[in-house]
Amino acid sequence: MAQRILESGQIETLERREIPRLIPPAAQVFGIRARRLQALAPGHAIEGYLQLMARLCEAQQQALDGLSPAVLADLREQAFGQRPAAAAEAGMPPLLAGDLQRDPIWREILRTLCRKLGDATGFPEPVAAIVGELVGTEDVELEAQADALLDSAGAEPRNAASAPFVMAALQVYWTALAGDERIHALHPMADAPGLCPACGSAPVASQVHARAPHAGHRYLACALCSCQWHFVRVQCSRCGAMGKDIAYQTLTDAESEDNSAAREAGVRAETCEACHGYRKILYEEKDHGVEPVADDLASLALDLLLGELGYARASQNPLLWQLAGD
Ligand code: FE
Ligand code: FE
Repeated sequence: MAQRILESGQIETLERREIPRLIPPAAQVFGIRARRLQALAPGHAIEGYLQLMARLCEAQQQALDGLSPAVLADLREQAFGQRPAAAAEAGMPPLLAGDLQRDPIWREILRTLCRKLGDATGFPEPVAAIVGELVGTEDVELEAQADALLDSAGAEPRNAASAPFVMAALQVYWTALAGDERIHALHPMADAPGLCPACGSAPVASQVHARAPHAGHRYLACALCSCQWHFVRVQCSRCGAMGKDIAYQTLTDAESEDNSAAREAGVRAETCEACHGYRKILYEEKDHGVEPVADDLASLALDLLLGELGYARASQNPLLWQLAGD
């Protein structure tokens, strides 16, 4: 009997089929993030900020857990029902960040997060002022702030200080939506593989997983809906360049003011000579605790180094918004 020999391209195709293409949000995504931030904070150059964001992530988890099954079902029906059939057929993300008509519940979530942060002790005075102001901000202004943060063209936030809190509420809302089973069937977009197939947002960072069934594969982590999607290694997630254009940067202890280089061994920056941009890549094999939003935030020193080297950050960390020129 003749044996069928597979060409190398076919082998890759077969291999790819077996990789889960999309990882839905973990039920405890915000709690995991909070604990990671708490673990990274002690002795860190921005310890206070990491602790504050850890507290915010705890509040996010409580808000997500507080959505009843009936409310979740309603929110998801309302959101998924908005996608026109034509868009679905064209493979457009079903929960497109810039397009979706948001349920007002996201503003309730925001105010709940802000009240919790306002009641928390041990944070600097300006924190209470920022969250207090947000609680009293009119709905129309909150919607405008959300629109600016979700703008795919990269509009400046209307208020950089309040942006992490507004974004945190939007994350809870989108993560709740992305917990729907309809998300499981999605694949990375052929014409925009660097954008989230569930909500169309840019990733905060990428992660090479160490555990089955994702071990050895790299996934991009959505900054909004908490999904991860498969993306080949040694390729720029910003412009798609591959091979010799791609390099990796890490901090040495000398460059790291707080001697955090060893701790950050699991974090590198993937730079691209074609677009002069970078995104960080986290290696779970080197550090089992890596979490995309937390580790990206806690490796700010690496951003400073890349900035000095002339590379542009591909997209913002949802918990830290910098204005152009900062
Ligand atoms: Fe997403
Ligand atoms: Fe590039």
